[in-house]
Amino acid sequence: MGYDRSRDDWIRSARVDLWDLPAAAAFRLMVLVARAFGRSCPYCGSPGIFSSFWTLKERCPRCGVPFEREEGYFLGAYAVNLIGAEFAGFAFVLALLIRTDLSTLSLQVIAVVVAVGLPLLGYPYARSLWMAIDLMVHRPERHLSG
Ligand SMILES: [Zn+2]
Repeated sequence: MGYDRSRDDWIRSARVDLWDLPAAAAFRLMVLVARAFGRSCPYCGSPGIFSSFWTLKERCPRCGVPFEREEGYFLGAYAVNLIGAEFAGFAFVLALLIRTDLSTLSLQVIAVVVAVGLPLLGYPYARSLWMAIDLMVHRPERHLSG
């Protein structure tokens, strides 16, 4: 089965010469995670890829790579965000339950606020993290030569 080059059309609209991801997996992972939490372009490291706290720009302002390269690309980000935020929220409320003597009602109110608030706050980071995961698994630069 041959590789479908038409699927790489999104790469052709980007300045791939500005991409500087390390090839070695461990370094690549460190750079990608730092860029994800720094809300920078996962490909070139440029800041300013969000137009507001929650709104990811269509393309990187520096290298021009389109972030949502196909319909449903960020579906995995929703899952990463929901799972991560709910586990963190559960751990937080569990720690409050064990280490404080807050009333049951207070804990319930805090749990609801955390269960709703954390996914909202984590969503932009989940999108950058999702792009980082994608770049760990799929290395677009491998399809550029030839
Ligand atoms: Zn970029």
